[in-house]
Amino acid sequence: MTPARGWDQAVFRCGRCGTEHTATTEDDYLKAVGAHSDAHALWGRLNPIER
Ligand SMILES: [Zn+2]
Repeated sequence: MTPARGWDQAVFRCGRCGTEHTATTEDDYLKAVGAHSDAHALWGRLNPIER
């Protein structure tokens, strides 16, 4: 595994629920973002937001 140069760690902060996830690799970051997006999609279907 060769970490991308300059990649130390990144914090993903969700603008919808404020959840923060610190990722140490780009792969981890993308995975966390993807999983979180899926979670929101699921929550949205379970608890439709009234507008
Ligand atoms: Zn969120």
